[in-house]
Amino acid sequence: MNKMTRGLFIVVSAPSGAGKTSICREFLRACPQVNFSVSYTTRKPRSIEVEGKDYFFVSREEFQRRVAENAFIEWTENYGNYYGTSVKVVEETLALGNDLLLDVEPGGARNLKKSVKGGVFVFILPPSKEDLLNRLRKRGCETENDISRRLARAEEELKEVSWYDYIIFNSELATAAEQLKSIYLAEKCRRTRLAGKIKQFMKNN
Ligand code: 5GP
Repeated sequence: MNKMTRGLFIVVSAPSGAGKTSICREFLRACPQVNFSVSYTTRKPRSIEVEGKDYFFVSREEFQRRVAENAFIEWTENYGNYYGTSVKVVEETLALGNDLLLDVEPGGARNLKKSVKGGVFVFILPPSKEDLLNRLRKRGCETENDISRRLARAEEELKEVSWYDYIIFNSELATAAEQLKSIYLAEKCRRTRLAGKIKQFMKNN
């Protein structure tokens, strides 16, 4: 790996229940060289979630302290909970030439597009809206009230599709993860990302 080349960052967004978390997990298994940006949240952990791996679970006070310290490159309030991306993790990872996957909602993604150059933005869609509702129900961790709130929000988020670079329809997990990997691999070969490496190659020949 040529350390002169800044790392690539991929931002993945999706309406709740579109299968984004599973796709990201599968992708990270297939591409272990890619780091995952672990966000901070004030949401309570779900049963399968692991502190420091899925999220850093913090109190509202702790989160607000970090906001005051400008520790987040972006942050948002979502369903009554705060979520934020560590500026330190993003900057350090990319500066070291390492790649980073971020899972953020469209508002945060939009902010990242403005503040960090060279990101790749991927939106994951379920095969249909009916499918989305079924997936939310199957999760079994949400009340009907939560489900309606998430569906209403999903309608809003779907309007953001237009500015993303890539869209993945998640009909089947393995295929969707494979598509994310293909996007990543193609972006790694983009000429404009390899300027330093090309220059070095030309010098040595
Ligand atoms: P969940 O509670 O289901 O894990 O996540 C809810 C939403 O918060 C998802 O759309 C997820 O992408 C988003 N999210 C997770 N971490 C961050 C973050 O650091 N910043 C922003 N803006 N959104 C996040």
